[in-house]
Amino acid sequence: MKYVSTRGGAAPQTFTDILLEGLAPDGGLYVPQTCPRVSAPELAAMRRMNYAQLAYALLSKFADDIPPADLRRLTDSTYTAAVFGSADIVPVKTLEPGLHILSLSNGPTLAFKDVAMQLLGNLFEYALAKRGATLNILGATSGDTGSAAEYAMRGKRGIRVFMLSPQGRMSPFQTAQMFSLADPNIFNIAVRGVFDDCQDIVKAIGNDQAFKAEFHIGTVNSINWARIAAQIVYYFKGYFAVTRSNSEQVSFAVPSGNFGNILAGHIARQMGLPIHRLICATNENNVLDEFFRTGCYRVRGAAEVHATSSPSMDISKASNFERYVLDLLGRDSAALAKLWSSVEKEGVFDISKSAAFRQIAESGFVSGSSTHADRLATIRMVWEKYGAMIDTHTADGVKVGLEHRESGVPLLCLETALAAKFSETIREALGRDPERPAAYADIESRPQRFEVMDADAQAVKTFIRRNTSVMC
Ligand SMILES: *Cc1c(COP(=O)(O)O)cnc(C)c1O
Repeated sequence: MKYVSTRGGAAPQTFTDILLEGLAPDGGLYVPQTCPRVSAPELAAMRRMNYAQLAYALLSKFADDIPPADLRRLTDSTYTAAVFGSADIVPVKTLEPGLHILSLSNGPTLAFKDVAMQLLGNLFEYALAKRGATLNILGATSGDTGSAAEYAMRGKRGIRVFMLSPQGRMSPFQTAQMFSLADPNIFNIAVRGVFDDCQDIVKAIGNDQAFKAEFHIGTVNSINWARIAAQIVYYFKGYFAVTRSNSEQVSFAVPSGNFGNILAGHIARQMGLPIHRLICATNENNVLDEFFRTGCYRVRGAAEVHATSSPSMDISKASNFERYVLDLLGRDSAALAKLWSSVEKEGVFDISKSAAFRQIAESGFVSGSSTHADRLATIRMVWEKYGAMIDTHTADGVKVGLEHRESGVPLLCLETALAAKFSETIREALGRDPERPAAYADIESRPQRFEVMDADAQAVKTFIRRNTSVMC
């Protein structure tokens, strides 16, 4: 299996080659040259597998340059009840016959990103050890991604994490989650500024090629193909959990931001998983919903991005979307490159009049959006009717999912975070605090370790230099 750029301008690479890389050199995203298929007998065998076995069976189709025994060890040590709270890893909660929540948020940071990030941490450690290399991950976070990355990389040999966050702007829970980590390879940097200041510093350092090379600076962003591959697994697991035979179809509702989660569903469907619809749910930042309805993809300027109560879906553009559009275009990378050059120049492309637009229906995608009022109403409805507490992002998915629900087709709504992370909105909806897993009861009172700094790239560089002088 080789990986090529969506825009067609990069030499084919192996899975391990692209694992530690970001964008392809031509600015595109890496995708598998051809989509692997799951045969009917394979699908039948997969139904009986536990999560780690299933992860191995699917990932071995993408990571075929990792020796099978090694990959097996990596999936076995990643997907354990100790890390994910239960042997099922992603248990299904049935609200009523035909309506389910796929629980993806029982990992260490209580959000779905852990499912892929925990594997990524182990893959990185493995690949770096093989190459005798080290990696310093530099990132900016306003909450979720940074904590998922830190919990995945903590204690990993050959890896350090330098994570910038805007001082005093994350929730007390999120702050405590990150700053209470005591591992010597995790460095939290609280920047006197806003999230954009953090992002600017990361970009400035990323543009300093000499520094980047000397200090082996890398990232863990959502365009990493290994994260997509790891997310495919729970679509299969969810499918098996709510069906009896592989002749049945199911639909998935997916709270979407950068399009990584639902892209994994799209790949699962192409591999042969009997998915009827992939329901793309957005919040007020409805770039994606607009595209699915109109065929017009219009990225938003910073001033147009709404700060919502489902903040992890507040996007101006969807970084993984390019991979899906390549498929709509029948894998014509020249046509794809044209569309993205139009996005870069004019902030928009329009395929409403082309054959690609008609492919959307073929690909199973439908969409919808929701508002703060919708989230409150949905959280309340699910609580009162089913006794289940869902978070704001999951609520976006349930709201849009129900709009597209069809009789006779089970609907799985992906839970992307636990309510415990968004207590303010839960109190507004239900007049009570969310439930919190016991292990997190005292998290805000644990000792915190972080460095406060001005929004100054030079100061961050000095800090990195000072803290990379000893091996980890
Ligand atoms: C990241 C995130 C999303 C959006 O997922 P994408 O893969 O970016 O579409 C939704 N909900 C939560 C809680 C998240 O952390």
